Amino acid sequence: MNTKSTYFGSLTPGECKHNIEFEYTDEQEKELQQAKKKAVEAVDLLKQIDELRVKALELVPVPHSCYTKSQREKEKTLLKVMDRLFSLTKRSSDIDSRIRYEKERESKIELEKIQKENEFKQQQARNDLITRAIQFLQKRNIQVGVDYALDMVIDVAYNVAFDEEVEKLKTSGGMFEFSGDDSCEDCAGWNGVDHRCSCGNRRVSWTSDGDFEHLIVYAEAY
Ligand SMILES: [Zn+2]
Repeated sequence: MNTKSTYFGSLTPGECKHNIEFEYTDEQEKELQQAKKKAVEAVDLLKQIDELRVKALELVPVPHSCYTKSQREKEKTLLKVMDRLFSLTKRSSDIDSRIRYEKERESKIELEKIQKENEFKQQQARNDLITRAIQFLQKRNIQVGVDYALDMVIDVAYNVAFDEEVEKLKTSGGMFEFSGDDSCEDCAGWNGVDHRCSCGNRRVSWTSDGDFEHLIVYAEAY
């Protein structure tokens, strides 16, 4: 049985008027049939893809921002629909990133606010301390701005308070205990004036903790 196709047609359409009739070789026939089979498969796949495209349009419809008909038609094409599908796959991580960014921003703003408040409070506390230091010095007839610059006033008040306290302790007389007397032997302490304790083992001087308002002066070996 002859199953071979026969070609009836123009060799160069529009120019040659002569129809030719011939039989395909086995090889040509095989190639032709394969191509036809693949064409059928391709048509079927294209149909399935187009059905998926239409289905996908329910999930990723044409954006409302498209006003013209041509814009809307363009947004319905497979490539545009796929673009929107890809965007959708990343959307949850985009939203998560945005939420994290906003949270971090809020925390940063809150932190800056607290820092500014703290700086303000610290500045306020320092200003108050300067004011009290000025009053402290004025009571002793030491004029700020004449005798000392404003930024030195706290240190000056401290030194004045220290000298006063040491003077008071010296005036009270007697022997003072001091920290660091472990290496002394039968030591009576320090008289508050000499460079060494009474047994002579340690060099001792006055030292202090606190500020001019809450000053603790004590003797310490060094
Ligand atoms: Zn001693």
